[in-house]
Order: sequence, then C-alpha cells, then structure tokens
Amino acid sequence: MIYRPLGKTGMLVSIVGLGGEYLEGQDAATVRNIFDAAMDAGVNILDIFMSEPNVRTHIGEALKGRREKMFIQGQVCSAWVDGQYTKARDLQLCKESLEDLYERLGTDYIDIGMIHYCDTEEDMKLLEDNGIIDYCLEMKKTGRFRSLGIGCHNSTIAKKLVEMDIFDVLMFSINPAMDMIYNHCSIDGFMEQVDGLKEGGEAPGRLDVDQDRAELYNRCEKKGVGITVMKALGGGRLLSADTSPFRQAMTVPQCIHYALSRPGVASALIGVQSLNELEQALAYLDAADHEKDYSWIFNHIESYSGNACVYCSHCLPCPVEINIAVVTRLMDQARISGITAEIRQAYNALDVKATACISCGACRERCPFGIDVVENMHEAGVLFG
Ligand code: SF4
Ligand code: SF4
Repeated sequence: MIYRPLGKTGMLVSIVGLGGEYLEGQDAATVRNIFDAAMDAGVNILDIFMSEPNVRTHIGEALKGRREKMFIQGQVCSAWVDGQYTKARDLQLCKESLEDLYERLGTDYIDIGMIHYCDTEEDMKLLEDNGIIDYCLEMKKTGRFRSLGIGCHNSTIAKKLVEMDIFDVLMFSINPAMDMIYNHCSIDGFMEQVDGLKEGGEAPGRLDVDQDRAELYNRCEKKGVGITVMKALGGGRLLSADTSPFRQAMTVPQCIHYALSRPGVASALIGVQSLNELEQALAYLDAADHEKDYSWIFNHIESYSGNACVYCSHCLPCPVEINIAVVTRLMDQARISGITAEIRQAYNALDVKATACISCGACRERCPFGIDVVENMHEAGVLFG
C-alpha cells in the first residue's frame, strides 16, 4: 500500500480507501470478509455516510479489536428517520445520529468528523444558523473528532467552504467526466484544451480540467486541506462503454489514477460490495503505468451525452419510500442488457416500485447532479411494467 498525508491532519492514509455505501444491505460476514481483505492489504481509511443501523453495526463488529488501525471518516447530518436515510440539518437529529454511530462502532472518537454534503449557499447558512458548525467545532475541541471535514459536489461552494479555514478535509466527487464534462466547462472550451494537449501540451497525469475545479484542488493543496474522493468510478458508469460519456470503458485503476493525480488528493474511497470489487480496486497498486494511463479519453470526448445518476441516494427520503438509486441502477442496466432474469428478480424484490412515485419532485431538488428523478421513475415504471 502507498500512504499519503491527509492535508495537515497528521494522518497518513492509504491512497485506496473504502467507501461504505455499498456495504449497506450486506450481511455481517460479507462486511467482515471485506474488512479483513482490505485491512490485510493496508487500507486504513473508511467513509461511513450510511445511517442505516445494520450496516453501522456490521462495520463496528468488523472493526472490533482493530479500530485504531482504521481512520474513520464518519458523517454528521446523515440520519435514519422512519426507516430511510435522510440528510439532517436539525441539530438534535444530527447529535442523535452521531451518538448512534459512536455506539454502533464501539468507539469514543472519530478521526474525520465529516459534515454530510453541502452544495449551496443556503445550506452553508443553515449549517451555521442551526448551530451545526459550532457543534462540530466543539466536537473537535474535545477530541471526539480528531479533525473536521465537509463533503461537497459543487466546486464553487467547495471553494467557499475551504476559505472558511475551519475544515481539515474536503470530500469531493472527482472523476474525469465530472471534471471535464459535467461541471461548468463548455464542450467548445474543453475541445480547445484537448487540441492543446494533442499539440504537445501537458503530459497525461496532470491534465487540465474545468477551471473552477482545478482551482479548488490547487487551493486545497496550498492550504493543506486533504481531499478524500467520492464517485471516482462515476457510480460504475465509467466502467462500461455503454454508459461512459467517453464511449469506451475505463478500468478501475484508470479511474483511481485520475483521481489520485489531482492536486490535494490523499485517498480515493472506493465503494465495494464484494471481495471481487475490492480486488479490482486494490489492483491499482500493482498496475503498470500503461494500465493506469487514461489519456485516451481525450479522443472520445465528442460522444458526450449528458448527465447521469451515480446511485448515491442523496435524493432520499422519498415520501412513498422508493429506493431511487436502486431503481435507477436497475433501469440503467436494463437499458443496456435488456431485462434479464436477474434484473427482473431484483426489481420484483423491491418493496416499493417506481410506479408508486407521486411526482412530488422532492428528490429532484435534492439531487446534487441535477438528475430528473421524476422522469426516471416514470421511465422505470414503463420499462418494468
Ligand atoms: S438521482 Fe441524484 S441523488 Fe439520487 S441516486 Fe441518482 S445521482 Fe444520487
Ligand atoms: S418524485 Fe417520486 S421518487 Fe421523487 S421523492 Fe417524490 S415520490 Fe419519491
């Protein structure tokens, strides 16, 4: 394993870390096996944004007797209400959810207290007005947080958050599609950059990205704010020629290499749900340079085709309890391979189907990636019947 300093926190974190989201729904033995293999390989950083009680308990059990070997990035403001994840901005709810996390993990400290994502100025104000920032600073002062972080998907807001000079860590969504296509960069502007590269410009590994995002990464590096990466694989979309905007599958090592090549980045936290997926992530460490080289994506940019769901569940809660991420993932899979028996079975097993959507639009407002969830639920309802 290779380790990098996490900004100025004093922590040396593994460049490949664990994202916890896909551990939700797995049984205790699977979680344990994944932790055994990951920790044997030297993985020492983990993000827990999930508020679902069982996954928290399973992780606590998997860490028993070796908790100090894992840097826990534990998210504040992610709560479990009426059987669903919810993004909380009520101080009391945040406190209760965090105490539940300490208890289920069997620990009295969290290495990186991470405020669950903030993507707008209104949300920044809420965090201050509702006392959440003060509460988190107090947690750091008393040692219950060893450092303070915040998650974000919007580079303009992230820069403002970094300028507050209270955060040690930024969790940010980084992959080439988001850096080069889905943010503020026009395709014309991007093509100019590509032409520059073809004419002997900057070498692959440090390619130009959207100016706002590039500035964010540089600012973090300069200020010593460590970046932990989410969405490095674009929710798996970059790994398939059918769903990647580059119309050619990237490999997991290429995606990880891209994220780790950004200034300020300490660790790419890869969400895995099986030992096989963990092995694919860890393969980065043994990959040869040519296997990590992602520069070919610049020849494929003309096939850009819009934004896409990354299955993060930030759009929940849904009043009728649709699991939006799972429905969307199954629909995307079915669009590529047709409705296989496996996809049909997984869809049928869902407690609430897409057709239950009442078009309230709450999810659309919450999605950090601008996905038209209502339209997606309608399409999924038609597709699956
Ligand atoms: S619709 Fe948006 S918030 Fe919901 S799972 Fe997809 S990307 Fe995440
Ligand atoms: S629009 Fe549909 S999927 Fe979205 S929150 Fe409302 S009911 Fe749920």
